[in-house]
Amino acid sequence: MDADLLRRYLEFYQDLGIKTLYRQPSAPRSSIPMSLAPDLPPLAPQGDTLFRILEDIGDCRRCRLHEARNKLVFGVGNEKSPLVFVGEGPGADEDAQGIPFVGRAGQLLTQMIENTARKEGIVLKRDDVYICNVVKCRPPGNRTPEPDEMEICGQFLYRQLSAIHPKAICALGGTAARALTGHKEGVTKMRGKWLQWKEIPVMVTYHPSYLLRPYNEAAKRESWEDLKKVLHFVYD
Ligand code: URA
Repeated sequence: MDADLLRRYLEFYQDLGIKTLYRQPSAPRSSIPMSLAPDLPPLAPQGDTLFRILEDIGDCRRCRLHEARNKLVFGVGNEKSPLVFVGEGPGADEDAQGIPFVGRAGQLLTQMIENTARKEGIVLKRDDVYICNVVKCRPPGNRTPEPDEMEICGQFLYRQLSAIHPKAICALGGTAARALTGHKEGVTKMRGKWLQWKEIPVMVTYHPSYLLRPYNEAAKRESWEDLKKVLHFVYD
């Protein structure tokens, strides 16, 4: 990777508060498919860190999503968080800023996290959790990422989750839930249930973009219930 570009990426993420984290990865066993792509770095190397993952991603051109990308959207928040939220892929606002969940859906996610926590008596801000996506570059027109795109980028999600090793993961929407758990059902069947990524519990809930649509009051209530479950599991 071009040294100047790497330095700028690292500075950018340093500004967002990402520091190194040394943790031994656990045995690679995941329903995120193992990649067939030849130029991927090794899966969860010893002593992996978010910095090292970012370095390995570099100026990524491993799939077609790089073609229209403005900024790669790696992840944001507390790299030692016991709770990680995983979305599908960046939208237009995230692509412009290089930060996940900063558009309308992101604002709703922030409210959901902070308001639910407050009502439940848990002291928690958005910055206290870690937020990332299955794919790091915006799919054109916000389409669903293709299986090969998720497979290639899934390697980096695998490493992020292995490095952070949270107590629980919250999958936002069906795409993230299926990518993480290997389950094939729609989100309405999976939501509210505990599934697993490796040995880590995964709570599935609706994607905030879905909750922004009109007439989704019932789904909003369900999502609040899902969030309560995961927050109590992690922070009680
Ligand atoms: N939707 C996602 O899945 N991720 C983002 O970062 C923003 C919107």
